[in-house]
Amino acid sequence: MNKRKNNGYKTQKKRHQSNKSYGKNRSALATESNKLHGKQSKTSNRRGNKKKVTVEVVCAGLSHEGKGIVQWEGRQLEVEHLLPGEKAEIAVSTSGRVVHAQLKRIITPAKDRVKPMCSYYYACGGCQLQHMNEQAQKRFKQETIQKLMRPFGKPELILTMDHPYDYRNKSHTTFGLNRERQIIGGLYAQNSHQLISMDRCLIHDPKADEIWNTMKDMMKSFKMQPYNEDTGRGFLRHVLVKVGKVSGEIMVVLVVASPIFKGKNHFVKALRKAHPEITTILMNVNNRNTSMVLGNQEKVLFGKGTITDTLCGMKFDISAKSFYQINPVQTEKLYARAIGMAQLTGKETVIDAYCGIGTIGLIASQKAGKVIGVELNKDAVRDAIHNSKRNGVKNARFYQGDAGEFMVKMAAHGEKADVVIMDPPRSGSDEAFLSSVVKLKPKRVVYVSCNPVTQARDMKYLVQNGYEVKRIQPVDMFPQTLHVESVAEIVLKK
Ligand code: SAH
Repeated sequence: MNKRKNNGYKTQKKRHQSNKSYGKNRSALATESNKLHGKQSKTSNRRGNKKKVTVEVVCAGLSHEGKGIVQWEGRQLEVEHLLPGEKAEIAVSTSGRVVHAQLKRIITPAKDRVKPMCSYYYACGGCQLQHMNEQAQKRFKQETIQKLMRPFGKPELILTMDHPYDYRNKSHTTFGLNRERQIIGGLYAQNSHQLISMDRCLIHDPKADEIWNTMKDMMKSFKMQPYNEDTGRGFLRHVLVKVGKVSGEIMVVLVVASPIFKGKNHFVKALRKAHPEITTILMNVNNRNTSMVLGNQEKVLFGKGTITDTLCGMKFDISAKSFYQINPVQTEKLYARAIGMAQLTGKETVIDAYCGIGTIGLIASQKAGKVIGVELNKDAVRDAIHNSKRNGVKNARFYQGDAGEFMVKMAAHGEKADVVIMDPPRSGSDEAFLSSVVKLKPKRVVYVSCNPVTQARDMKYLVQNGYEVKRIQPVDMFPQTLHVESVAEIVLKK
């Protein structure tokens, strides 16, 4: 699934997947496991330097990716879908130095194990933790953050979600043909371009799934062919649906391989008739051989081309390509913590770095002297400027550019900032940015991150250069998946 902070909404790159073989069998693992009792079975076959053995193991803990850790011949292996304390049979294949372990059969299941709610769970891979109950997911995320943040202190308790499903306000679905050449729709299996045919993803907004299922049926009557990545033939590549959870507004983006869309008006009319709740429809042309979902050309086919949503009492217009947090319920909790950590009194100059459509900066502007936002994506900056006008904000300015370069210029011009709020993509920030923060010497840095690994790396730099981490708040923005968001309050040492 996820993630995120990538305005082209990249799909998975790697073409081949190693663990498809136990697809169906895997879904039966949790239930069957009770019946099975452990005889030590060991088989092996050798071909060249390739070896495959079946061994019995006991899981010692979880890796930061939520995989079970086991020991085998003095090596530590990670096994998908295995839980701590579980005794299981695994297949270990060795090819040269590469060792791959795969769960075959659970002998003694853990108390934390549950039957995944989603019937596509084991085949899809977009969620990684559905075989754990909610408490175990919470514990896993808390411990992951705790381990990563050990040098900086103990994080607060993770903020979880009451209903950890249906939360994604953005989804993209792909269409293809099955062996019988019937149109199927669904998601790519994790790390592959293998399309999993499905009708529902339990973390998507249910409305979004209804819409693309309707489209799948419409494709047949409109003789619209799904795009084939290998041959370059066909028309419809993906459909992107964005839902304003508060406003109820819905955007549908048809990502197509060619700008020539025969029967366009009829298609739009039929889709609107089936789903009058759709408020805007766009066509995005992606004619490149790429794993990015969206191409550059965009045309509004119906409505205003954006949707509006309300976050922390402010209204935001969102366009197709701009980044917007995918779980608005948890985003409100995250932003409340982040802005609280900024300790604004109404006088401060605040930098909102990696600002997207300006959400954090505009919400903070009510309590700040002035806000300066910087963001790389042009569409997002345009949305941010528009959103500041829409909300009558007079003390915020937004700039397009690389946040690091922007900060270097600010530092070179001797500008002042009291608070820097930063929310970089998964790759984290860079030295240009961080070294300029150190030069600008804001009293506080609030670091919002969807990847605590790079957050810890960047915080280490700040700590080595005069800052101290006061508080770390994990937030579960992506239930059922291994991802976890974290916000840290970092202050300049006196
Ligand atoms: N703070 C926003 C957006 C966070 S996502 C929110 O909460 O919604 C991270 C954002 O960083 C994305 O909008 C992405 O386009 C932007 N980005 C990525 N690399 C960047 C860079 N080098 N400089 C500035 N912005 C960048």
